[in-house]
Amino acid sequence: MAGQEVDGAIDRQSEQAAMRRGFILILSSPSGAGKTSLTKALKADKDAGLEVSVSVTTRPKRSNEIAGQDYDFIAVEDFQRLREHDDLLEWAEVHGNFYGTPLRPVEKHLAAGTDMIFDIDYQGTRQVRDKLGRDVVTVFILPPSMRELRSRLERRAQDSKETIERRLENARVEIERWGEYDYVIVNEDLDRSLAGMRAILTAERLRRDRQTGLPDFVDGLLAENAVG
Ligand code: 5GP
Repeated sequence: MAGQEVDGAIDRQSEQAAMRRGFILILSSPSGAGKTSLTKALKADKDAGLEVSVSVTTRPKRSNEIAGQDYDFIAVEDFQRLREHDDLLEWAEVHGNFYGTPLRPVEKHLAAGTDMIFDIDYQGTRQVRDKLGRDVVTVFILPPSMRELRSRLERRAQDSKETIERRLENARVEIERWGEYDYVIVNEDLDRSLAGMRAILTAERLRRDRQTGLPDFVDGLLAENAVG
């Protein structure tokens, strides 16, 4: 084989080996544990190669949020319509508001081999795991202490005092679900937590059963040996 042809064959084999199905990385945590900051940092990280799922919600927009980017803010009737038409992969009622993940973008990205990141609660996580099984990787983010969780919610100053109290009460219920997740990160320091998330991503991408191109790649390798 001429040098150029060999290089071409190797390129093709590497591409085949890299071929794989996309998966969903779910991040759950009580409000204020830092999950949204982590999701944003991962999204900004060009090397992470992740698509962020934009949920629909009936909750009012906070002043620092961008419609269509943080959430699609919709009316309760529109949410019900999406649910009735099976347009949501999962949905849940959290803190008195409805939240849901639109199905279509998920189907599109996974089919194209693109991994996605979901910032959803434990109720939604169960539904996605039941539906998509091995295409789902779950991470639970814990706050370093309840005191720190409270002060993060207060610093955020986006919610009323009443809402903050409700979120703190809910945090206990949510924290009790930690045992249902594949990975757990105690978010004391954002950079360290981010490094943990990147490590999880790398390891999950290297899982044998996700690399759908491997059988052909290995066949190619063995054929190459036989010739040599
Ligand atoms: P927040 O109102 O603080 O943005 O979110 C409240 C909670 O709702 C968070 O735990 C967040 O992960 C969860 N959440 C956001 N979007 C969705 C969604 O599409 N589905 C589900 N099940 N939970 C969501």
